Amino acid sequence: MPELPDLVHVERVLGERLIGRRVTAARTGDPTVLRLMIPGDFAAALVGQVVRSVERRGHFMRFGFDGELVLVVNAMLVGKYRLLSPDEARATKDPTALGFALVFDDEDRGRVGEPSQGSPTGSELRYLDDKRMGKVYVARPADEAQVPVYNELGVDLLSPAFDRARFEQIAKGRRDQVRPFLMDKRALASIGNAYADEILFAARIHPKTFVRSLSEQDRDRLFGAINQVLRAAIDEIERRDAPADVKVRDFLSVRGRVGKPCPSCGTKIREVRVNDWDACFCPTCQPVTRSLFIDWSRIGPPPEGATAGAAPAAAGKARPRRRTRRAGPG
Ligand SMILES: [Zn+2]
Repeated sequence: MPELPDLVHVERVLGERLIGRRVTAARTGDPTVLRLMIPGDFAAALVGQVVRSVERRGHFMRFGFDGELVLVVNAMLVGKYRLLSPDEARATKDPTALGFALVFDDEDRGRVGEPSQGSPTGSELRYLDDKRMGKVYVARPADEAQVPVYNELGVDLLSPAFDRARFEQIAKGRRDQVRPFLMDKRALASIGNAYADEILFAARIHPKTFVRSLSEQDRDRLFGAINQVLRAAIDEIERRDAPADVKVRDFLSVRGRVGKPCPSCGTKIREVRVNDWDACFCPTCQPVTRSLFIDWSRIGPPPEGATAGAAPAAAGKARPRRRTRRAGPG
């Protein structure tokens, strides 16, 4: 998915280009991504509206319009935003991945550094989703809280509210492994697959480690890594200043680098399944420790057959859904 650092960039780029512009035409592509929470159709609702705000909330992008209307996008895995100039829009057919397109009034094009051409069709914003897993909600502001997850988002990781004490509070009592914990949008808003891997690498924690078995020093490192990794990525993506639909990921340390040398120690990066997701990690920098296994003595009464401070074999028995590590290079 476009992840938080990508969305910070997209928020800025789309905000600069779209705020103050009026929608002159609107159309939808694949209806499976669209959730209309208002009467009428998409075009009737959007045409004539002026964009007042473009705002990231967790992993959602919220477009506010002057006529008491919001468009909220959860781009999920591969959803992306493409801005096209009037000429590009005319020359480019709608792809099958089109979720929606908004055409804008370009009278004031000088403000984006382009001379006014008096074009009959303006620049376009297209939302594309190859996997059709994203969702686009059109709603009255009073109803937007009904968008799934949106109103239940955990603490925004870039907000001052996300401090060490808050992180401690959120991590307390978690019974899951650290990678699914990082990706729980209702706890932390928002981390996806790529940055979960990068954060765990920076914190030198194996992705299967149980949150409850992290020491205070581990949690210190994890909290520090969340801040450091996300903010460094935001800076790097802003520095590159790529178009809104281009995901800049070539600077990452472990994600997408299976089989390649760890930038820190040279060991080949490996992949492991954690809760049905592939996690990339360095087996040397993020070693398997006892903390991968459930320490029943810290959680509660052991199940029948398991002893307190369970040995790996017993922990394996206690988690029948555990998958074996996928054989990787190296
Ligand atoms: Zn390493």
